[in-house]
Amino acid sequence: MDPSDRERYSRQILYRPIGAAGQEKLLAARAAIVGCGALGSNQAALLARAGVGELRIIDRDYVEQSNLQRQTLFTESDAAQCLPKAVAAEAHLKQANSRVRVCGIVADLTPENAAELLSGIHLIVDGTDNFETRYLINDFAVQEAIPWVYGAAVGSYGATMTIVPGETPCLACLFPEPPSGMHATCDTEGILGSAASAVASIQVAEALKLLVGDTKALHRKLISFDVWENRFQAVNPGAPADDCPVCRRREFAHLSGDRAVQITLCGRNSVQIHERRRPVDFAELASKLQPLGSVRSNPFVMQFSVDPYELTIFPDGRAIIKGTTDPGLARSLYARYIGA
Ligand SMILES: [Zn+2]
Repeated sequence: MDPSDRERYSRQILYRPIGAAGQEKLLAARAAIVGCGALGSNQAALLARAGVGELRIIDRDYVEQSNLQRQTLFTESDAAQCLPKAVAAEAHLKQANSRVRVCGIVADLTPENAAELLSGIHLIVDGTDNFETRYLINDFAVQEAIPWVYGAAVGSYGATMTIVPGETPCLACLFPEPPSGMHATCDTEGILGSAASAVASIQVAEALKLLVGDTKALHRKLISFDVWENRFQAVNPGAPADDCPVCRRREFAHLSGDRAVQITLCGRNSVQIHERRRPVDFAELASKLQPLGSVRSNPFVMQFSVDPYELTIFPDGRAIIKGTTDPGLARSLYARYIGA
């Protein structure tokens, strides 16, 4: 280890379960964070500062003012510019630690791109806000035998579990089907930044144990807590389920894309439209849209407002249509303004 790394990470090296040997492992490690909201912001900052050699941050969204209360990586300037979270996160993390490789990827993790975006990764940390993506991560992680750390936070509640394929139960062992119908989200129930930070901190401690190889220290529980109502519990999840479709039968339904892609962004009064292999020319589109509403753009996203809707368009043709939860209406707005 070079002397400046020895100094930078000195307090972590003094911590015996990590030590110099553990720090070398962290510097050589590659981790992915999927989703860079409240959980992902905290995870990314802790992992980058701890010296995880390569961090891949995958996020589909852009920074809004209502994120700033809990998404600790972002600033007012990021929100004013509508920067994609992955782009803003990469910039801030490089300032916190220029000696690790941070790669922000503006994308929605899907069955089509999972293998490419997660290739060569040693560990996945869950910063998502939806079950579709978590089941996709679970399929990929079990298929490739990569550990992943589940986490969720809403209101004052948080939950986390660490999944080591072949050793612990997977997400589908515990919950064979994603929860159906309405469930609480940050956009309907609100969320405390402290609940999210607490979950992310436990997730990152587990991530460090895995990356330095101290698997005996993993908590091996389904941990949940409520920081407002003062409830803390840790349940033993038992052995992997005998009939688990994912880790026993190795049927990867979410990864093979057999299930319909969810296009509504849960609780956000927004619909996401995937339009693959249709790169958008921002300059050309801006000149077409300027007479119809207000347009602003940066190199990463273009935003078009036409009352009561707001269309945020990414260069690969993906768009988030705000102002409706009706996929049919969102598709027709996409066709009308961006192209059929
Ligand atoms: Zn399983």
